[in-house]
Amino acid sequence: MIYLDYSATTPVLSDVLNSYDKVSKDYIGNANSMHSLGVKSKVLLNNATKQICDLLNISEDELIYTSGATESNNMAIKGIAFQYSKRGKHIIVSKLEHPSIYKICEFLEGLGYEIDYVNNDSNGLIDFEDLRNKVRNDTILVSICAVNSEVGIRQPLKTLRQIIKKQNPDTIFHSDITQAIGKVPITLHDADLCSMSGHKIFGPKGIGFLYKSKKVNIVPLIHGSGKFNDLRSGTPPLPLIVSLSKALRISLQDLEKKEEYVDKLNNKVCDFLKGLDGVVLNKTNYSIPHILNISLLNIKPETFIHALEEDEVYVSTNTACSSGDLSTSVMAIYNDKKRALSTVRISLSYITTMEEIDKFINIFKLEYNKLNDFMGGNKEV
Ligand code: PMP
Repeated sequence: MIYLDYSATTPVLSDVLNSYDKVSKDYIGNANSMHSLGVKSKVLLNNATKQICDLLNISEDELIYTSGATESNNMAIKGIAFQYSKRGKHIIVSKLEHPSIYKICEFLEGLGYEIDYVNNDSNGLIDFEDLRNKVRNDTILVSICAVNSEVGIRQPLKTLRQIIKKQNPDTIFHSDITQAIGKVPITLHDADLCSMSGHKIFGPKGIGFLYKSKKVNIVPLIHGSGKFNDLRSGTPPLPLIVSLSKALRISLQDLEKKEEYVDKLNNKVCDFLKGLDGVVLNKTNYSIPHILNISLLNIKPETFIHALEEDEVYVSTNTACSSGDLSTSVMAIYNDKKRALSTVRISLSYITTMEEIDKFINIFKLEYNKLNDFMGGNKEV
């Protein structure tokens, strides 16, 4: 099998799985319980939280565990919208967000909030001037992802934050860092709130967090016993939390070296794809190497993906989470419907081997020629 869909999800590392197994067996107490089993679990919980916060250079009261990035995005955007509704109802998002962000915005629009979309340039970079012009006195929130999930566009969060705060110091800045963390260096303090999911960094599914700066408040979405955390009640999922801390620690090790390696993999695939008739690279100066997006102009992407699957090669169309066929990100960058309707996302990781890439290229060549001939395309490669 050649798995090249690491941006959809990653396999759990065996070290991480071992932690999950050990904690599930050896720490049966509820960390909220008063007895010694509870206290033992609480100590482990605190250690895991401290480890995560030390790795990210944040303090422990700035971390809220969630089930993943969808929940973190909901908690951040609705939480801010409800908390600061008296200050204003204007929210700005980019055109490169994950579908979950747009769904939350749609919901808030129904409640009378006004959603504005900031433009980007032809490299996918946020248009600074447009952002400056759009931030108003009543803008309570700007949400812009650190790395886009479809084309891998990386945004300069620090600069965006400066622009926003200069226009309105009260405007809160949220960033979905799900596709950035563990792939490229990231500073959480560049935003007021950051969302992530553990399963994108070789951790288990069902755990993630929201970083929330102490300077901002949110209305909680989940109410219950506030013993663990007033902002997200419920029994702390200790095995998941410990696994997350382990996955994070491993994923942040040698980050730059890993990125350089993934860049080599990406270049090898790109060199091959550039020679193909009917294949367009959706790659800009701001794309991270882990996400390689292409458009197939002569072949239906679904047909191609299933053809690759026959050879046990796994890639995606736009994202695993999008509902339609059109890639909103490719549309936002290139403004080309044909290109946006025919995308394939190849996502790489530091555990991808050169041998896998060589095999992938051979299988791609084979299936592409077969389908291209069938569709009346030209030129063998
Ligand atoms: N944001 C981004 C940028 C993502 O890539 C994803 C996952 N595709 C999500 C949010 C949602 O993550 P989850 O499904 O783990 O809640």
